[in-house]
Amino acid sequence: MDPKKNYYEILGVPEGATAEEIRKAFRRMAKKHHPDVNAGDKSAEARFKEVNEANEVLSDKKKREEYDALRKGAFTGGPFDGGWGGEAFRGGGRPTGGFRSGTFDFEDILGQFLRNEGTGFTPPDRGEDVRVEVSVDFLDMVRGGVREVRYRRPKTCPECGGTGRAGRRGCPVCFGHGVTETEERVKIKIPAGARDGATIRVPSKGEERASRGGASDLIVVLHMLSHPYFRREGNDILLDVPIRYSEAVKGAKIQVPTVDGPVMVTVPPGSSSGRKLRLKGKGVPTPGTVERGDQFVVLHVAVPKSPSEEFLKLVDRLAQYEESDLRGHWD
Ligand SMILES: [Zn+2]
Repeated sequence: MDPKKNYYEILGVPEGATAEEIRKAFRRMAKKHHPDVNAGDKSAEARFKEVNEANEVLSDKKKREEYDALRKGAFTGGPFDGGWGGEAFRGGGRPTGGFRSGTFDFEDILGQFLRNEGTGFTPPDRGEDVRVEVSVDFLDMVRGGVREVRYRRPKTCPECGGTGRAGRRGCPVCFGHGVTETEERVKIKIPAGARDGATIRVPSKGEERASRGGASDLIVVLHMLSHPYFRREGNDILLDVPIRYSEAVKGAKIQVPTVDGPVMVTVPPGSSSGRKLRLKGKGVPTPGTVERGDQFVVLHVAVPKSPSEEFLKLVDRLAQYEESDLRGHWD
């Protein structure tokens, strides 16, 4: 407790605020400044600590009375120990026992009110699930595969055992959070046919809290990378294939890639651009089944950009035989 600080201002409530107003203000401010939503923002971290400190005093009737009394001048001017969290206050001649913040855990406080938000259902408290996003190659999403995921895993601080304290001061390892992070690797199995945005839950690989006897889960979010030539629409795969004018007119057998390797495809005579040839069962598997989508070969008739004189002469001759009313249906 530090009467030099204005805890009311920190929580954004008037000095006469009710317990309910303080509770609501704390909930709002703690969410806003929580380290989880302000990763890497040191000033947010500091504000989060202040908000917690303010709440710890103002939400406790006895501490609040002491604090108000100190601010009103009852305080005789003893030295402050301006240490971390303002916990070690030694007022001149006043008892100090009730003023110490003691060992509180930010996560506990936050966890408490987040749980209370619900409908009374209290899930087992094992810490928060950890979410990590990974980019996965197109073909690994289609065929399935194994992928190593690296992530930062929050764990109970080994230095202070999660209390956030080292004697009278904040723990120098976790800066009072009671939690540190370690670099972890875990292998995940990507199911064949996984969709962009799919999640894989790895049990007990999330936040590990020694005090709570367990760990939450790791949630891996899969993001599919695009492929140089395959496109995916649901469980179907599309492939754009250029063909020559002569192939389009007379038909042809051409080789095209599929996710299973190359196959021969028959282009029927008289194929215009945009025609789709279906390769049944060459698409994406439906996870957990033997079903697969199809691959569609989308034909594109390619014409030369800078044809030779000879080519143009032949095209002129060809034009004499072409249908003249291709766009007649617009009349
Ligand atoms: Zn620590």
